[in-house]
Amino acid sequence: MTSLTVAELQQKLRAREVSPVEVLDALDARISAVDPQIHGYLSRDVAIARSLAEKADVSLPLGGVPIAIKDVINVTGEPCTAASKILRGYTSTYDATVIARLRAAGAIPFGRCNLDEFAMGSSTENSAFGRTMNPWDLSRVPGGSSGGSAAVVAADEAFAALGSDTGGSIRQPAALCGCVGLKPTYGRVSRFGLIAFASSLDQIGPFAKTVRDAGLLLNAIAGKDPLDSTSLDVPVEDATALLGRDLKGVKLGMPREYFIAGIDPQVDAAVRSAIRHYEGLGAEIVEVSLPHTGHAVSVYYVIATAEASANLARFDGVRYGHRAQTDNLLEMYGRTRAEGFGPEVKRRIILGTYVLSSGYYDAYYLRAQKVRTLIRGDFTRAFEKVDAIICPTSPEPAFKAGDRSDDPMKMYLADIFTIACNLAGTCGISIPCGFADAEGTKLPIGLQLIGQPFQEARLLQIADAYEQSTDWHKARPVPAPTPK
Ligand code: GLN
Repeated sequence: MTSLTVAELQQKLRAREVSPVEVLDALDARISAVDPQIHGYLSRDVAIARSLAEKADVSLPLGGVPIAIKDVINVTGEPCTAASKILRGYTSTYDATVIARLRAAGAIPFGRCNLDEFAMGSSTENSAFGRTMNPWDLSRVPGGSSGGSAAVVAADEAFAALGSDTGGSIRQPAALCGCVGLKPTYGRVSRFGLIAFASSLDQIGPFAKTVRDAGLLLNAIAGKDPLDSTSLDVPVEDATALLGRDLKGVKLGMPREYFIAGIDPQVDAAVRSAIRHYEGLGAEIVEVSLPHTGHAVSVYYVIATAEASANLARFDGVRYGHRAQTDNLLEMYGRTRAEGFGPEVKRRIILGTYVLSSGYYDAYYLRAQKVRTLIRGDFTRAFEKVDAIICPTSPEPAFKAGDRSDDPMKMYLADIFTIACNLAGTCGISIPCGFADAEGTKLPIGLQLIGQPFQEARLLQIADAYEQSTDWHKARPVPAPTPK
């Protein structure tokens, strides 16, 4: 049962072939069997979820469907650790808006997914509570930062999940785990109740087994929220409305700067073959240029760290989680942060504080903002010619755990193709498009489509056309993780 898509599950629930409680129990059993090897979940509260399942209304859009939640989104009465020791023991006192909306749609938040501490990373190795394993090869990373959300969907330990994407944290792990990951347009989904990393870049979005499922989740969570002034009052169209329409007249842009030396040859080949497949479906492929691409990673690491240094100032031992034991106040602040934050988070706070400090602000932060405007302009110009941009999600398939953990620069480059989309504020999706062979192990490859702002319905139509005419999305980790 746990291998069903959300759409299939809904049908069975509505036909009363299964009850929400049976679904929850089956999922819980699957998690118990598989998660000891994957470690995609940090915690789950079966009692709360069961009581919700007992009264679930299956006539609602997501009625009775359990959804896994990245442990950076607040759910009343549940832990929200951001995979950081500093928030160990913290219990949420309120629902994030996305959670309130999932509940209103009948869904059941179930399970807290592992991540890189405060969503900073690309491998989920920065979690303070142990790494998540890639279900296709347990010695490899699932990507990050939403590696737990991606892994549990890929391993049929969740029907769908929510993650957050600041520079690629939904799309990159989706690519490395072989599922669908959608980053909505900035302002499409409320960030209220998401633990902030970089507020001008963060966006919550779904992980799913199919493009349609991602659309169903987006429908539930999208829309203006008075509690988040950056959510935009743009009409929420049905994200699944265009699914099934043909691709005649659709133009896809291949950015010259994204097909470069250094990409894994198997990734390059799979993406090029996906592009030929699109031509076969009737789409027109044109070359486009995003000339400022080369600056995206640097600009991101100035802006994101600057915002993080401000956002993380609130974790000082006074209000949340961990507090160092001492009777001197200043020492308490310092020691709480020294004990509570991991090395990558500290590195970012230091970098972000530096680029904002007087004397350096103009040279780094202000300049980065100007280049961000140029990057956004690249996309605006490309979208005058094409409906979506097509490129790899990640330059390579899943890498071995431990391979990058000592080299932050190398880790940062994992997001080279996803970051610009966040800087430009537009929407993007990763879908499975093939497999690489790594010494006999099959590793998923992700295809990225970047859409025009607020054109998620069009983006999903384009993604779905590929998915429905290929079989990649049906593949599951083989051999399936053996139950303990
Ligand atoms: N890997 C990027 C980083 O470490 C992106 C993370 C994210 O999107 N949250 O910042």
